[in-house]
Order: sequence, then structure tokens, then C-alpha cells
Amino acid sequence: MGGLEIRRLHLASLEGVDGRRWPVHGFVVMHPKGCILVDTGVGGPDRFLTDWRVVNRTAADALADHDLVPGDIALVVNTHLHFDHCGQNAVFGHAPFYVQRSELERARREARQLTDWFDFAGARFELLDGDAEVAPGVRVIATPGHTVGHQSVVVDGDGEEVLIGDAAYTPQIYSHPDTAELPKGQAADLQTWTASLDRLHRSRPSHVHFCHHTDVAHG
Ligand SMILES: [Zn+2]
Repeated sequence: MGGLEIRRLHLASLEGVDGRRWPVHGFVVMHPKGCILVDTGVGGPDRFLTDWRVVNRTAADALADHDLVPGDIALVVNTHLHFDHCGQNAVFGHAPFYVQRSELERARREARQLTDWFDFAGARFELLDGDAEVAPGVRVIATPGHTVGHQSVVVDGDGEEVLIGDAAYTPQIYSHPDTAELPKGQAADLQTWTASLDRLHRSRPSHVHFCHHTDVAHG
């Protein structure tokens, strides 16, 4: 299935320790079997919102920019379970969450303070062990390294489009992983991270979309 349309949601912006401001994007894949949402923006204890100087939007407002409502989302993919990627999962409690099993285990172990956001009562997980098709024309591929269970999404859109999550924060890092200066947190496991970027490059995507940068990379 080709030609699936991807829409970018502006969910928040936050300020890093270096004083740089970063956008926070989610993406909607307009799928005939029901819209697929990739990542749900920022939530978390107030401490995170303060520390990162978050200017937040509700997912419902961001969807309304595209004439969509939360009920239009049939399934959610979390690239990983950091506070700026799963923050509003509970808004989509009607939908299953496609997450790598290793990522859920990591988050349950390391991020107990986020439990209300990704592990709320009634949350339904579709736990994945590596690559998987989530709908015709939409696949997740395991891209560990940023976190142990990070995954990216590959869409048969205008060519093969990649929603890269935090596998690379910026086009620059994506294009030059060996020489780019890596912001804190980019790679929890550098060797694994580098291998994941190699893998993405080898698949020669037509477009790469970033959670934390507005430019779209080509190839
Ligand atoms: Zn992250």
C-alpha cells in the first residue's frame, strides 16, 4: 500500500540544558483502517515541565489543527517511553499502544514517576519483540540505542518515509552520526545507537521526519 499521508502534530516545545529550544512533534498516519498516532507529546510530573520550560499543548488541540479528534486514532505507536513521547497516552485510552517489550520493561524499572502517563489503569499494550507490521503499509523497526527498546516507524507514503523518533534528534545527527556533537541523552548505548543509524541509512528512506526538529531529511 503506497501513498499514505503523514501529518505532523506540534505538541510542545521545551528548553534543553544548553538553552536551546526543541519542538516536540507527534505524527498521524492517515490510514484507511483508522488513523495511527506516533508519540503523544509531553506529560510527566510538574518537575519535568518546569525543568524543561515546557510550553505544552493538548494532543486534542494539536489534532484539531488537522480536523481530527482523539477518537479518530485507532492505534498508537510509542517510539519509546520518555516523558516527551508518551505524555498524553491516557487521552487515547481507547486505542492499543504498540511498544517494544524491552522498552516497557525499562520504563517500568527506571521511570516509575511516569507510570501515570504510560501505564495508567486499563492501558492496553501490544508488546513487540523487534520489527513488526502494525497495519498494511506501516511497520515499526527496532532502532535501539537511544533507549534499549526504541523503535522507528516506516510508512509507505511518498516513497518510504521514516518517523525516526529519538534515534536522531536532528537531521545533522542523522546525516553525520560519527562526527556530530551528540546532545546529552542522544545515545544511552553508543555502539548500539550507531548500528541503528547504520541500519536506517541502509534502508535509504525517501524522507526522515524528526520529533525534535522541523526540517525533513531526504535519503
Ligand atoms: Zn527520548
